[in-house]
Amino acid sequence: MAYQRVTDQELSILRGIVGPERVSTGESILDLHGKDESFHAKRKPEVVVWPLRAEEISRILRMANERRIPVTPWGAGTSLEGNPIPVLGGIVLDLQQMNHILELKEEDLQVRVEPGVVYKELNKFLSRYGLFFPPDPGASASIGGMVANNASGIRTIKYGATKDFVITMVVVLPSGEIIRMGTNAVKSSSGYDLCRLFVGSEGTLGVVAEVTLRLVGLPAEFMASIVQFHSVRDATNTVLQIMRSGLSPAALELLDAPVVALVNRYKNLSLEEKPTLFIEFQGMSIAGLKEELEVVKEICADNRSVRIESGMGREERNRLWEARYDVHEAIKVNHPGLSPLVIDTAVPISKYPDMVEWSQKVLEKKGLKGFAFGHAGSGNLHMEILGVPENGAEWRQVQEAGEDVVRFALECKGTATGEHGIGIGKRKFMEKEHGASLEVMKRIKALLDPNGIMNPGKIFE
Ligand SMILES: Cc1cc2nc3c(=O)[nH]c(=O)nc-3n(C[C@H](O)[C@H](O)[C@H](O)COP(=O)(O)OP(=O)(O)OC[C@H]3O[C@@H](n4cnc5c(N)ncnc54)[C@H](O)[C@@H]3O)c2cc1C
Repeated sequence: MAYQRVTDQELSILRGIVGPERVSTGESILDLHGKDESFHAKRKPEVVVWPLRAEEISRILRMANERRIPVTPWGAGTSLEGNPIPVLGGIVLDLQQMNHILELKEEDLQVRVEPGVVYKELNKFLSRYGLFFPPDPGASASIGGMVANNASGIRTIKYGATKDFVITMVVVLPSGEIIRMGTNAVKSSSGYDLCRLFVGSEGTLGVVAEVTLRLVGLPAEFMASIVQFHSVRDATNTVLQIMRSGLSPAALELLDAPVVALVNRYKNLSLEEKPTLFIEFQGMSIAGLKEELEVVKEICADNRSVRIESGMGREERNRLWEARYDVHEAIKVNHPGLSPLVIDTAVPISKYPDMVEWSQKVLEKKGLKGFAFGHAGSGNLHMEILGVPENGAEWRQVQEAGEDVVRFALECKGTATGEHGIGIGKRKFMEKEHGASLEVMKRIKALLDPNGIMNPGKIFE
């Protein structure tokens, strides 16, 4: 596709639509919108615009579409795959000022929000009503960015990913048309599920201007355990058996021994530096949770666990889980000058132990430094492989290692990305993962965005 640059004429139209104070070509603003949290190279947009309403987005998209100017939506910029980097320049549409909670339907367990609402703020607000929105990516992501990446996190194992919570949406298409989709009924068999189409579309089909989310009640009681093992295989086999036991953990996470060592240093903790599982259960009563804990203990003992520490109640849960958080930051802080290539493969749960073992062998074989952790109960492996992207030969090794791990996941009938999205880095796996259905995706893209203005350079090569 041939794209136009943003000229003074377009800048003046944009200022007319949103007002001059919400259009910027300032260097520092362009700089901030040229890079997410990934290693992918910075590419500055030509202008950043902060709309406040769907109608403003509509006028901006119509203008950009007529003039073939790329438009990239921006949530909070916390992506790990280059998803919001405006690789072909153009307009970045920063949705952060559309940050209002529009309507809480407490009785229906639903909330209607603008896309710039940060999910942590939303959950703070909802907690006053005994409600919460479970997908929890950890970083301070916006609801729009979570919808666009189909984000998930530690509680997906019990509650599901963002896609499972979006019930209605207002989306602005590249033509400027504003469409409302979905229903406030929690189930529906009516027609194509357009919400599911836009969830995970990474801003390549349109701009999400409003979302209604399904909510759940806050759990009454919590139980948490930290369990340590001599080997990763023992830890991952434990994951498998817990998942098959009929128990329903709210979170089940793995940190490999080197990650535990890093987090110890970063947070001044003193966990034994062994493969470790972090387990959380939620329930109505401590008595019920204690029964579940006994089953967990038996399974862990069967798998030769070397240490188990458990606690009841929210405070204990938070204390025990302290080491699980901020792993990405601990890796970054402990390795100045190195960037991580982030692996995010997910496989059917029975293949999880093999996936983790394979990824470690790949690192060993290539002599690379990397750290394995992740949402084990969902079969989702995170691995950060370190290198210097500017160092061609070495970075090629890092990339090859990443490719080896993804290929293994695909051979296990898994996916290249469990939650971070395709962005720039995973485009090369789309054909292998989707086969002929990739062509259907391309046709959908061409139908909704014939001029290819929405977040070009993402998802498809
Ligand atoms: C330390 C750390 C830990 C993380 N852990 C997890 C995790 O556990 N699970 C997980 O899923 N992710 C995780 N992430 C990745 C990231 O937080 C998520 O992908 C998140 O959903 C991105 O949201 P954002 O608001 O930052 O969106 P951005 O990064 O700004 O954008 C994401 C994508 O959405 C598009 N977009 C943004 N807003 C809109 C909109 N309104 N309409 C249409 N398209 C839009 C953008 O163009 C882009 O393609 C982590 C990131 C970090 C830094």
